[in-house]
Amino acid sequence: MIILDGRATARALEKNLKVKVEELKDKYNKVPKLIVVLVGNNPASLSYVKSKEKACKRVGIDGFTIRLDEDIIEKDLLKVVDELNDDSSVDGFIIQLPLPNHINADKVLNRVKADKDVDGMGLLNAGKLMNRQKGLLPATPKGVMMLLDYYNIPLKGKHAVVVGRSNIVGSPMAKLLINADATVTLTHRYTNDLGYYTKQADILVVATGIVNLITADMVKKGAVVVEVGINRVGDKLVGDVDFENLKEIAGYLTPVPGGVGPMTISALIHNVIEAFLLVRQRN
Ligand code: NDP
Repeated sequence: MIILDGRATARALEKNLKVKVEELKDKYNKVPKLIVVLVGNNPASLSYVKSKEKACKRVGIDGFTIRLDEDIIEKDLLKVVDELNDDSSVDGFIIQLPLPNHINADKVLNRVKADKDVDGMGLLNAGKLMNRQKGLLPATPKGVMMLLDYYNIPLKGKHAVVVGRSNIVGSPMAKLLINADATVTLTHRYTNDLGYYTKQADILVVATGIVNLITADMVKKGAVVVEVGINRVGDKLVGDVDFENLKEIAGYLTPVPGGVGPMTISALIHNVIEAFLLVRQRN
């Protein structure tokens, strides 16, 4: 079994990104700039935001966080979004999820200008993905595709099974795999006999947030298993698949932590550079 080492892959890709950023700096006299908007004090969000800032530093782009009060009203948050949309020094920004319940997250995400939507969460970028047009892709599924590509895992003609259908992970993941010529089965909470489907997967991507949902008897020998789920159990982080028992079955397996998480950040940085170029190459 081969571990799909997201941390090592992300670091290797960062080296190329760093060179690219140097070139951009020489050519445009500016480095790309990412802003993360963080509402409240969710501990997991705080830790993700810190990791994003650190990754920006490593590749040499500007990365800052705007911290807002937990009880900010929606209208004021939309005002912050509008200001970032209009600020020409900002190449891309993201609204760290989850947002507090009193805020309509869809409304806020859809207010982000498509050119700066480096989390690919707005309707325009989602629509472009659906129609196979070039746009900014959601960072987690994009990161998964980068990881599979780095390990030269063939997708064409393979059967990929995605477990989970959220707008952030499962649904765009399925579409990216379809676009890569895999045959895709998308499963969810109401799928009867989940194991019947997962056992047929050459490539299995799991994104549910349910500990041990996928056990060894649900996976085909030699399958590529990509774990997106991150769950805190006591003081440990675990995924949705039974990692220890799957080691004997899977051909490739991502660890938690150190799998898809670092690749998500790498894909985000990639998107910021893409957004920077998108606007400049158009003008
Ligand atoms: P959501 O809660 O939005 O979606 C979970 C999905 O799992 C839903 O589509 C749900 O189906 C499906 N599901 C729930 N129960 C079952 C079941 N018994 N069988 C099959 N499918 C089921 O979560 P996210 O997609 O946002 O995140 C999923 C996981 O990935 C979480 O652990 C999250 O922390 C992690 N994550 C990790 C990231 C990373 O960088 N590594 C980034 C983003 C998320 P239904 O639609 O029917 O309700």
